Amino acid sequence: MIHKPFDAVVVGAGPGGATAAYHLARRGYHTLVVDKAKFPREKVCGDGLTPRAVRVLQNMGVETDGPGWARAEGLRIVGAGVTLDLPWPDLATFPGYGLVRTRLDFDALVLDRARAAGATVWEETEVTKALVINGVVSGVEVKREDGSTELVKALVTIASDGAASRMGLSLGGRRLERRPMGVAVRAYYRSPRYKETYLESYLELWHGAELLPGYGWIFPLPDGTVNVGLGLLNTSPHFQNVDYKRLLRDWLAGFPADWELVPDNQIGKVRGGPLPMGFNRMPLARPGLMLVGDAAGVVNPFNGEGIAYAMETGAMAAEIGAIAIDAGDPWKLRLYPDRLKEAYEGYFVLGRAFVRAIGHAPVMGALTKYGLPNRRLMQFAFKVLGNLTDPRDGDAEDRLFNALCRMAPTLRRMVG
Ligand SMILES: Cc1cc2nc3c(=O)[nH]c(=O)nc-3n(C[C@H](O)[C@H](O)[C@H](O)COP(=O)(O)OP(=O)(O)OC[C@H]3O[C@@H](n4cnc5c(N)ncnc54)[C@H](O)[C@@H]3O)c2cc1C
Repeated sequence: MIHKPFDAVVVGAGPGGATAAYHLARRGYHTLVVDKAKFPREKVCGDGLTPRAVRVLQNMGVETDGPGWARAEGLRIVGAGVTLDLPWPDLATFPGYGLVRTRLDFDALVLDRARAAGATVWEETEVTKALVINGVVSGVEVKREDGSTELVKALVTIASDGAASRMGLSLGGRRLERRPMGVAVRAYYRSPRYKETYLESYLELWHGAELLPGYGWIFPLPDGTVNVGLGLLNTSPHFQNVDYKRLLRDWLAGFPADWELVPDNQIGKVRGGPLPMGFNRMPLARPGLMLVGDAAGVVNPFNGEGIAYAMETGAMAAEIGAIAIDAGDPWKLRLYPDRLKEAYEGYFVLGRAFVRAIGHAPVMGALTKYGLPNRRLMQFAFKVLGNLTDPRDGDAEDRLFNALCRMAPTLRRMVG
């Protein structure tokens, strides 16, 4: 069956796709978003949202108070015998709080915003291939829940189908091997300390006597549980041969007893997934198609945060998509990679350099040992790691960081 054309079809209704669909539908474009899953559906994640993600939610009119949300006042960093509570930076550009909510709830809630804005949503519908006409992506072929197939034509197609992104890869997209990649695992535990108001991160993950580049986390949820996990970077020589589930088990075995992170309190299985970082996918667009979120490899290399970046790139894809639809010209999507580079290039180049440096165990060790006891330095590092500064009228630290980001693209050849 051939369906009536849409202005835009969005493949994948995670936070990236749902945000793109929301912004397109709100502007009045005839938008379809399809996902192979039925929502609410689980997504393996730490469930943590920084003020960067909260800002995107606020821009979409999402109510961030009430049941289901846990508020986070800042980040507690633990390592080298030091525990440091760092409140979120006080900024004009970002709200002063973070959040935690299970992805089961969160993704359904964001998708509901897209639906309420007027987007058509097809769940349990798998995109099987792109429809390419004269070299231009012009929609997709989908398989519906009952097994029937349909062709959906659209001027703009958005691939927001996650880290595996069959859409991007099937159209000649590739992963840039020199760019960073992470792997993370997580599990839920019942814990009496679920009311903690700080996100917690633990900088010491050991492989024998070697400090690994990555961190462990505990993010408290309002339902009496905590999301516990750890992530590692591919710049570690041990990246391929670490048993992640075992590393998590061993790490938790040494935990203070009052957390009660014991096997009896574990809910469900330990599950893991990849984190494609720092623009490690190319190309980001081609005529008729744009890549968003994990499909575009835009996870923050400094801290592994992906939700905010999926949603921000979703909003940027909607902005450029609108230009293409208004002009009736799918070639206009070539503006999209420039838009993403303008937003992230300098920061991601710095992130790629950082990831490379901490892949060397002595560098990671020295940063932990000498950096953590210095509160002033850590407060600055916290801003950098979270990409949380005021672009204009910020303080001296913000100005320094913004200048570094502007200069960073000149390092691209060295960093990859
Ligand atoms: C263990 C772990 C912990 C993490 N912790 C955090 C964290 O605490 N905070 C944070 O910000 N980020 C975290 N991340 C990263 C974050 O989960 C991702 O960056 C984020 O989910 C990306 O959103 P997305 O919309 O691009 O893709 P996804 O959320 O992966 O959504 C993709 C959607 O596409 C659908 N889909 C795929 N293929 C098809 C197809 N062929 N047809 C139809 N539908 C399709 C899928 O069903 C899915 O719903 C973590 C990642 C991992 C692995």
